[in-house]
Amino acid sequence: MRYTPCGDVISRQFLLSGYRAIFFMELSWAPVERGNNLERMARRADVAVIGGGILGLAHAYAFARMGRRVVLFERNARARGASIRNFGLIWPIGQPSGEMHALALRSREIWLDVIEAAKLFYRPTGSLHLAYQTDEAEVLREFAELAPSAGYQCQWLSADATLRKSQAVQPGGLKGSLWSAAELTVDPREVAAAFPEYLRAIGVDLRYGTAVKHIALPLVETGTDPWKVGQAVVCGGHDFETLYPEVFAASGLTRCKLQMMRTAAQPGGWQLGPALAAGLTLRFYKAFSLCPSLAALRSRIAAEKPEFDRWGIHVLASQNSHGAIALGDSHEYGLQVDVFNQAVIDDLILREAGSFLRMPDWTIAERWYGVYALHPERPSFESQPAPGVRIVTAPGGSGMTLSFGLAERTAKQMAYPRCA
Ligand SMILES: Cc1cc2nc3c(=O)[nH]c(=O)nc-3n(C[C@H](O)[C@H](O)[C@H](O)COP(=O)(O)OP(=O)(O)OC[C@H]3O[C@@H](n4cnc5c(N)ncnc54)[C@H](O)[C@@H]3O)c2cc1C
Repeated sequence: MRYTPCGDVISRQFLLSGYRAIFFMELSWAPVERGNNLERMARRADVAVIGGGILGLAHAYAFARMGRRVVLFERNARARGASIRNFGLIWPIGQPSGEMHALALRSREIWLDVIEAAKLFYRPTGSLHLAYQTDEAEVLREFAELAPSAGYQCQWLSADATLRKSQAVQPGGLKGSLWSAAELTVDPREVAAAFPEYLRAIGVDLRYGTAVKHIALPLVETGTDPWKVGQAVVCGGHDFETLYPEVFAASGLTRCKLQMMRTAAQPGGWQLGPALAAGLTLRFYKAFSLCPSLAALRSRIAAEKPEFDRWGIHVLASQNSHGAIALGDSHEYGLQVDVFNQAVIDDLILREAGSFLRMPDWTIAERWYGVYALHPERPSFESQPAPGVRIVTAPGGSGMTLSFGLAERTAKQMAYPRCA
């Protein structure tokens, strides 16, 4: 049993059967009158998207592009989740060969459309994975050889060629790098601020400061205005408690906490150039599991740098629209997220960054942590908890990369009729 916003007790049948239950109750119960009032008062849309992170925004865009009337609900006045706390890297090179890499490339195409249409900042940076150890060079050379047949476009560069591509690379001990042109850098905070305005301009109804408390289609309950919609997509990030908690409890999903830092804006318009990664990153992205030589690299790092395994650290560097460099990150897994940051993690990240990155100003202007949802085996989590409702979440550390591809896929799959 549940309570409606009017305080009436209604049956689980109502929750599960929507219109059918309303009809049944109309025949028999007085409280139904109030349920009908709720429906009559309700605002209408074809699709409700719950969550104003990058997945929610991307879904709102995908449905709006299909001509649907979309309402987007975000409980905060502005998005505050993983989608504003990340590097802003659109990173197809990290996706495993096959379906996920293809989805990342499709997502990148849509990102470019969106960037142009919404006039968002971006840098077509590409990426360099730097090798300072023999085993790192072996993995990267091996990957460059396997890449064409696996669908990646990238190449091994000598140390000299690497230094010609980037003024930010430490030259001492450099053995070479893997260059890929596909990666883009956006500014996540700017995306979260500016992209919703574009969505508004193409007709999406934005409801910030509005938490969705319950969904029983056609009704979406927010505690303030009721809404009547044809379909709903829940992109609530790592909120597993508010909507469909029973689905999340059975899902196997967990959380990951990541520590991040950002320097002050670099002086004199200094440019990072390609986004940078190095040897530790090869352990993280599934793309590199193609390489038999990866096992030796993993063992060496486990033996030489156990503290990096202990905190799940690898280091990336990206540059935002103000010229500041984002540095991170660590990975601590578990449903309970420690609210306190570990100073040791920041120290390790800075130590590792200093081994491959040179830049004019290392002043750290901001430190924060982010949390994302992830599934231990799947690249994202999708579920249909009720007819017409989808949950789409947990793209792990690849949500910026995959967002528009995932959203396009959901919108195509949900071929339901419009709300009357
Ligand atoms: C430190 C860090 C670095 C990362 N770097 C990258 C990167 O460079 N590239 C990349 O591809 N990925 C990266 N990621 C991953 C990426 O940021 C996430 O996968 C992605 O942001 C998840 O987006 P989301 O919309 O699912 O979740 P979120 O951004 O968490 O958004 C979910 C939103 O839903 C809202 N919400 C939840 N429940 C309700 C409700 N009931 N009613 C209304 N609103 C609700 C929340 O308030 C929240 O705003 C990184 C992540 C972190 C933490």
